[in-house]
Amino acid sequence: MVLFKKAIDLHNYLVSRRNNGERIGFVPTMGALHSGHISLIKNCVRQNPATICSIFVNPTQFNDPKDYAKYPLTVEKDIAMLKASGCPALFLPSVEEVYPEGFSVRPYYDLGRLETVMEGKFRPGHFQGVCMVMEKLLKIVQPNRLFLGQKDLQQCMIISRLVELMGEKDAIEVVIIPTVRETDGLAMSSRNMRLNPDQRIKAPAIFEALRLLQREIVHRKFPALKKKAAELLQSKGLKPDYVEIARVADLEPIEHWDGQEKIAGLVAAWVDDVRLIDNLYLN
Ligand code: AMP
Repeated sequence: MVLFKKAIDLHNYLVSRRNNGERIGFVPTMGALHSGHISLIKNCVRQNPATICSIFVNPTQFNDPKDYAKYPLTVEKDIAMLKASGCPALFLPSVEEVYPEGFSVRPYYDLGRLETVMEGKFRPGHFQGVCMVMEKLLKIVQPNRLFLGQKDLQQCMIISRLVELMGEKDAIEVVIIPTVRETDGLAMSSRNMRLNPDQRIKAPAIFEALRLLQREIVHRKFPALKKKAAELLQSKGLKPDYVEIARVADLEPIEHWDGQEKIAGLVAAWVDDVRLIDNLYLN
């Protein structure tokens, strides 16, 4: 696997691969890799032998500086996992490389209502920071295909919107890969590393709450059902930020359902000081 720390070196490498007629696949990550990330890499490599993975813990998307400071860093292990997965190239830039001009001046992205619900509501500024880094990375990599995880469903929609805002809708295909879970249903996440054994036992309650929504969606009114799922989380010692049911098409939260539209359950909940998110298609 080739490793690039400078955007110009990655750019030159990509030019030569493009000149060979290859299409570029891109998997952006913040490292602390697990099987969820590796599933993205393997899917990407299968479709695009010219795959780039990036590892960059983006300071501009952390609305809570403590969360940024505590974000796990496991670069040596990540590199070993990427090599084992057949990933041909890694971009591992410094903060200065991505933000040479600093980040005190921030662009504004018009993300519409999508930015005001769920993660957007509970993490103000988070999606603006995601767009800021993704715009930079997409301009450096100029991928044909961009691989994202359903685990962060709202982020998938936000990045698709960014691709539109950048005028790249026809050039970049966004591919969404299903969530990889532990055997007890807990969605794999770099943040799971911060769970102590007691917290780790509690965390699968998030998946249980989502399964409850899935099981009872046709039997109950949405407000009562969301309340029941929130109570399940609380009974297991978690503190939900939200339990939401939303249309998959635009992630608009809904209270009524025609029984036809594709809908998803979305949860964010705290296990003490660790905040986890997950979602599940309900039909
Ligand atoms: P992150 O490193 O958390 O920013 O995630 C990088 C990419 O991996 C994002 O597109 C995530 O949605 C995706 N991802 C994270 N966890 C999982 C998972 N459990 N299954 C599939 N994809 C995931």
